[in-house]
Amino acid sequence: MSDQNSAAKMLRFTLGVACFLAALATLSGVMGVGTKLSLYLAAAWFVFTATSLIAWPKLSLQGHRIISVTVLSLLILRWGYSWLFSQPEQVIIGLATGLLYIPLFMTITTMLMAGRGKTICITVGGVMGLLVALGASRPELMDSYLGDWRLGPLITAVYALFGWLLSNWVNEREALEYRTTEAEELGRKANTDPLTGINNRRAADVWLEKMGNSARRCAVIFIDIDHFKAVNDTHGHDVGDAVLVEFAGLLRKRVRSHDMVARWGGEEFVVLLSSLTLEEAIKVAENLRQQIAGVNTPNLPPITASLGVAHTSSGKDIGDTIKAADQALYQAKFEGRNRVCVGKTGVAKT
Ligand code: GH3
Ligand code: MG
Ligand code: MG
Repeated sequence: MSDQNSAAKMLRFTLGVACFLAALATLSGVMGVGTKLSLYLAAAWFVFTATSLIAWPKLSLQGHRIISVTVLSLLILRWGYSWLFSQPEQVIIGLATGLLYIPLFMTITTMLMAGRGKTICITVGGVMGLLVALGASRPELMDSYLGDWRLGPLITAVYALFGWLLSNWVNEREALEYRTTEAEELGRKANTDPLTGINNRRAADVWLEKMGNSARRCAVIFIDIDHFKAVNDTHGHDVGDAVLVEFAGLLRKRVRSHDMVARWGGEEFVVLLSSLTLEEAIKVAENLRQQIAGVNTPNLPPITASLGVAHTSSGKDIGDTIKAADQALYQAKFEGRNRVCVGKTGVAKT
């Protein structure tokens, strides 16, 4: 997709330049330079490029492809006209136009039409070579340097080789992009809890390990929904699931974007906060407890949760901090639920 996006950008830019040049050519034609035919051609080219640019925001990938193929076909027509009908001294303009612009539009078209690059390039090379072969045998060109039979095969061979290399390059980039996207998607899935869509325990473990290594102060808050079994028993498992999804969303909304919220397992969640003091962490936990208890979602039963907080000022004793937060959670349950308790390690390390 990114190749197609950059090809579309290249196409738009090239059309912009072509539109500007066509406007100049039309203006000079109006002022009497060149023939009537050249004026009409310049004006038609100006209208085509200007219309494409005006319609650009509404065009889809298919629209970009049509424009690119149209321009490529027009260039080949120009090339063919020069070889088949122009006088020897004028062939050079068509020849230069073709040799300079056709590779550019072959590249853009190949990138836009991923998967069909080889067909496009071989067809273009073949048609160009055929036109040269026909032109080179014209009596008018026979005696000039253009009347050389080797030009046709040479053009075909070079363009076919260029096309082959180009489409291999485009295909390889596509495959690489596909693999990267797939790997990213797998990585995302491996760190995501499928029910709630928030981080899972694996992601939380990675965060904790990183904190342990970086020796930064951080806090761990374990949160367990109170009497959740009763929610399932009374309202059914589906309502229980809906409560978990709602609960995860609430936690996510209430912490800073760089803090981590994860489902630790079952109806237990963890909030991991960095660069804050124990007092601040306790405030966050108490805030969360109040938010949870205050929620009143239609069709869902009200719930409360118990929270255990622990803090480390160095990050090094992250293992102890986790244990302390876990013990604090048990204590909160023991003391009657719907409350915040602070783990001992955390208190000592404020
Ligand atoms: P406590 O206040 O002591 O934490 O009581 P509790 O009922 O919340 O705790 P308990 O460990 O007895 O029960 C947890 C329940 O959570 C049991 C299990 O069926 C339920 N549970 C765990 N995972 C899911 C889930 O993904 N969906 C649903 N609906 N329920 C789940
Ligand atoms: Mg519970
Ligand atoms: Mg539990």
